[in-house]
Amino acid sequence: MSLVTLPREPRVLDNLVGGAWRRPPDATYVDVTSPYTGTVIGKVPMSDKTEVDRAVAAAKLAQPGWFAVPLKERTQRLFQFRQLLLDHADRLAHSAAGEAGKTVAEARAGVMKGVEVVEFALSIQNLDSGGSMEVSRGVTCEYRREPLGVVAGITPFNFPAMVPMWMFPIAITLGNAFVLKPSEKVPLTANLLGELMIEAGFPPGVFTIVHGGREAVEALVTHDDIAAVAFVGSTPIARKLYEMGTARGKRVLALGGAKNHLIVVPDADEQVTVQGVVDSFTGCAGQRCMAASVLVAVGDVDPLLERIFERARSIEVGASMGAIIDQGSLERITAAIGKAEAAGAKVVVDGRGKRPADAEYKQGSWLGPTVLDRVSPDMEIRHTEVFGPVLTVVRVPTLKDAIALQHQSAFGNAASVFTTNGAVAQYVAENAHAGMIGVNVGVPVPREPFSFGGTQESKFGQGDITGHSGVEFWSHIKKITRKWQAQADTTWMG
Ligand code: NAD
Repeated sequence: MSLVTLPREPRVLDNLVGGAWRRPPDATYVDVTSPYTGTVIGKVPMSDKTEVDRAVAAAKLAQPGWFAVPLKERTQRLFQFRQLLLDHADRLAHSAAGEAGKTVAEARAGVMKGVEVVEFALSIQNLDSGGSMEVSRGVTCEYRREPLGVVAGITPFNFPAMVPMWMFPIAITLGNAFVLKPSEKVPLTANLLGELMIEAGFPPGVFTIVHGGREAVEALVTHDDIAAVAFVGSTPIARKLYEMGTARGKRVLALGGAKNHLIVVPDADEQVTVQGVVDSFTGCAGQRCMAASVLVAVGDVDPLLERIFERARSIEVGASMGAIIDQGSLERITAAIGKAEAAGAKVVVDGRGKRPADAEYKQGSWLGPTVLDRVSPDMEIRHTEVFGPVLTVVRVPTLKDAIALQHQSAFGNAASVFTTNGAVAQYVAENAHAGMIGVNVGVPVPREPFSFGGTQESKFGQGDITGHSGVEFWSHIKKITRKWQAQADTTWMG
């Protein structure tokens, strides 16, 4: 049985510049391979600085006219886009699954999370209509929300539809023109989103796609006409781009990697915990920044651990868990497992060599769920992001030790606790160093309008990426103070 529908022929991808698809004349092309089969499904151009300049110039031309369109009218285009997302959800899900290695169900969930952000953006027209007040006799202060101009988003491979949609629906609704640089590993879904944005009737130049790698990214982040940059990806690149952009006076929000700790205490509910932990570290084959990475076992939780190992062993690679993005990542993850094993960790669930039975998927990049028990706090695997379906178990005697261990992590994306005790949950919620906390939830992604974002090395910059925080990031507040006539009783304030 086919797990996903892949393009029959490799798609040669174009950039979306000034509302039209454009083949960059001098670009080199890189193969896009499906993690499911290892076959080439696309060819993506590596745009150079000249191409980025052209794309940004077209966006700059479009932006003032777009902002001149009243907010309620701009929002109508987004209503169209939302309907198109629902109409094409299946196509988008297969595209995202085929290029990122997710299961189709996971990819569809990513599309629907994108729809949720679109729905939040649709509500901006009713959330913040500005305001005014007579601040002293005859003097009125008004505030109005204004866009920043041309803004950019740089996105990772692991959510080809969702992460771009964390950004552009809010940014564009506020009156910005948006330039997307998708991951070169998953460019096909980005272009599908581009097709739907054109069909929704957004004016040319309001939504731009420039494909590429480092050169295109650096050209965007250093471009004089780019006012703000949102980045989602690994921590070293997040830090670098944050520094590069802010040094040029740009507003930058850069979300980085993670090492999420899940704390399990003896009173935890078995069903909730086993499902919560296993779904968290195996969902999207562990390739999500909210995935469980370290299970902190407090006291004697061995019976729970046995059930977790059992459930992880029962997961069928292919049908219920997707593939690793590419062979390079697979080798990196397998090497990390081997290194931990050599350092003394016990491989209690071994996913190495697991793959779907169907010959069609023989050349794919597969790894089954893997659990390393008896990991000591000083092992390398405890501190580095593995970004695969690998759970490391560290045992500690008390809850206090569990929190101390969590604090050793340089990252701060998510942390969860599994317990039936409210005081334990509260202690973890208050003391863990992370931006997103779960109580009996393995993947504590806040739903809109709550914003998404971590702390420490998981995020560089102010605020979060979606929700109300997203509105703040992609706009500024202009204050207008008016007086139409002199007042006899005026003070220095008037
Ligand atoms: P990545 O950092 O390799 O790539 C992200 C983007 O940066 C891509 O568009 C890529 O083209 C670009 N890029 C790569 N190298 C660059 C360089 N040297 N200079 C400039 N640009 C460069 O990340 P990835 O492998 O695509 O994604 C996985 C990472 O993303 C993981 O670390 C994961 O935790 C993180 N992630 C974080 C969040 C979050 O919300 N914090 C969400 C999703 C993924």
